[in-house]
Amino acid sequence: MKKKLKFNSAKVRNEMVDLQGGKCCYCRQPFTETGPKEATLEHKKAKMHGGTNARANLAAACWHCNQHRGSQMNATKLRKEKAKAARLTSTPQQATGGRQDAQGASPV
Ligand SMILES: [Zn+2]
Repeated sequence: MKKKLKFNSAKVRNEMVDLQGGKCCYCRQPFTETGPKEATLEHKKAKMHGGTNARANLAAACWHCNQHRGSQMNATKLRKEKAKAARLTSTPQQATGGRQDAQGASPV
């Protein structure tokens, strides 16, 4: 088995934090040393989806956002996300969720 070069995530994370002015790439909140706003290294494209450790694929996200995003990485949710994205691109944002069906036609 070949040994892979160890990826220094802590170092890269610090670089990303610096690049982003010490703020999370998602919520734009400043990072803290510990807690939910602690800086974590985020793969914009998850490794399981072919993402790499290249700088272009990396960003610093707070722990909270990273967790939140991570939970979206299962297949079902990902499919939903894709459907949502497709919907958003195909129709010009519908403001309300309230459906206006034909029944009870409103007076004009
Ligand atoms: Zn965040």
